[in-house]
Amino acid sequence: MTNVELAASRTPRKGSVDAVVVGAGFAGLYMVQRLREAGLSVQGFEAGKDVGGTWYWNRYPGARCDIPSLLYSYTWSDEVRLGWRWSEKYATQPEILSYAEHVADRYDLRRDFAFETKVTSAVFDEASRRWTVRTDAGDVIDARFCIMATGCLSVPRGADLPGAESFEGESYVTGLWPHEGVDFKGKRVAVIGTGSSAIQSLPLIAKDAAQVTVFQRTPNFSLPAVNTPLADEEVAAFHEGFPEFLRMVRAGEPGIPMPPPDWVPNDEELAQLLEGLWSGWGLVACAQIPNLVKDERINEAACEYVRGKIREIVKDPALAEKLIPCDFPLAAKRACVDTDYFETFNRDNVSLVDLHETPIEAITPTGVKTTDGEYPADIIVYAIGFDAMTGALSRIDIRGRGGKALNAVWAEGPRTYLGLMVAGFPNLFTVTGPGSPSVLSNMLMSIEFHVDWIADAIGHVQARQASAIEATTEAQDAWVEHVNEEADKTLYPRAASWYIGANVPGKPRVFMPYVGEGYKVRIDDVAAKDYEGFEIA
Ligand code: FAD
Ligand code: NAP
Repeated sequence: MTNVELAASRTPRKGSVDAVVVGAGFAGLYMVQRLREAGLSVQGFEAGKDVGGTWYWNRYPGARCDIPSLLYSYTWSDEVRLGWRWSEKYATQPEILSYAEHVADRYDLRRDFAFETKVTSAVFDEASRRWTVRTDAGDVIDARFCIMATGCLSVPRGADLPGAESFEGESYVTGLWPHEGVDFKGKRVAVIGTGSSAIQSLPLIAKDAAQVTVFQRTPNFSLPAVNTPLADEEVAAFHEGFPEFLRMVRAGEPGIPMPPPDWVPNDEELAQLLEGLWSGWGLVACAQIPNLVKDERINEAACEYVRGKIREIVKDPALAEKLIPCDFPLAAKRACVDTDYFETFNRDNVSLVDLHETPIEAITPTGVKTTDGEYPADIIVYAIGFDAMTGALSRIDIRGRGGKALNAVWAEGPRTYLGLMVAGFPNLFTVTGPGSPSVLSNMLMSIEFHVDWIADAIGHVQARQASAIEATTEAQDAWVEHVNEEADKTLYPRAASWYIGANVPGKPRVFMPYVGEGYKVRIDDVAAKDYEGFEIA
């Protein structure tokens, strides 16, 4: 049965609630909990069969977090924190999914969600100042507030290469991985893409498969996870330091030790910091290098360090050169965190096709055809990324004041105030929306910041006995300008990344995350100043 058929097999829901929440990932789960605590009635919708979002869909072999598990955890519930024991430094997808399920069980969150149900439209009525939300199951729900917890990386790019539908073997998309797993034993496998999903899955696929061909368009920076089981002492130390950690993140500090912003390390200090990149602290180690994404000298030193490591690991020097990233700064695309990625290219059953030299012409019934010839395959794994940050929102017909479509308003790229609201769309909130740090942060922290802010804003509207909150166009314009200015001070725009929509043909190229400092302090300050830049009607 398709999703639509399954959804249609239940009785459609009709009626009125205070708030609709779309998505049952970490954002939607916490949002429902906060709204319930505030005494609001909530209807949640989730396209998947259960909770977990990213961790429900991305079941490919090797999927793990790239932020240490103890940090990639909710902070809002002491009971959850103390009752959950991560087993490894970087937890696996099944463990992270169990964690989401555990939270849903503990707070009975599934009760407010309709699963296997896609929200198809959300339309604002100016007279009543309420949203009408419709789904593919025929639900029609009327709500004062509509919160899009639809995820930044929840719309995988499918098998959209020319001829893909003609392939007669098995094909899989990493972001839509089958629940029953895939048996690679004895198979010839083509892996397309060399982003985080491919980098995590390749080593495990290669262990099982007879032969793997990796189709690489752009080589990527990847840092070793050096993953280990978590020792009791590490967990205890984390819990002991937790109050201070919480104080720091709630005060808007990053929650990990950071270098002083004006520190310019000398060569010796820089060399020491670079060693950190190979210590197993991946993205945390990147954050320790001052101005890594601002100072070209420092960035190039870091790039060279990683390039040197790749040359050391990959035994075939010609292959090593092909795997070395050289046309974008380190961290301008999210750096990957791997277990044995580069080492895997030393295996006899793994080979690389450099698509810069020989681009893919088509997928054929029996494999992948490049300008160089055909590579036969039994299985194709598409690890080609996501329509990131705006993809899920653009697939919902969202209409604000005057019937204006969000897609039309964002035709030249997304515009938001603080990544939280859009002028012309009252009472519609986006959790980790474009224009907020979102994907450039530990997402669980960003999610909590946004959910708390949104719940408080809704509480404020209700306390004033008002019916709507909306970003003003002036505040939004100023924010968008500021977001762009901050991005232009960095090396981020130099990479053709999904941060700027470069991975989706035809998508407007706009740098979407906010890279400035002190974001949490800013949004708290806006709220403290009686929601400066918002109109409350
Ligand atoms: P999601 O988890 O994406 O949940 C959104 C949900 O909304 C989805 O379940 C989707 O089905 C649903 N939805 C969307 N549109 C609709 C609709 N129209 N109707 C109904 N339902 C809808 N971040 C980190 O900080 N650290 C990491 O280590 C990390 N690892 C990652 C690994 C992978 C493989 C991926 C893809 C992302 C990773 N991320 C990581 C980012 C990750 O997306 C976030 O950390 C976090 O899980 C996002 O939670 P969310 O609830 O905002 O969105
Ligand atoms: P991605 O980073 O966008 O990588 C997609 C890969 O596919 C890139 O190598 C891209 O090449 C290639 N590609 C795209 N279209 C192609 C085409 N038509 N032909 C050939 N190659 C093509 O996607 P992802 O790996 O799924 O990761 C996305 C994000 O999700 C990550 O950046 C990260 O934030 C998150 N994630 C995190 C983890 C983790 O470690 N916890 C794991 C997976 C994902 P180009 O670079 O040339 O575009």
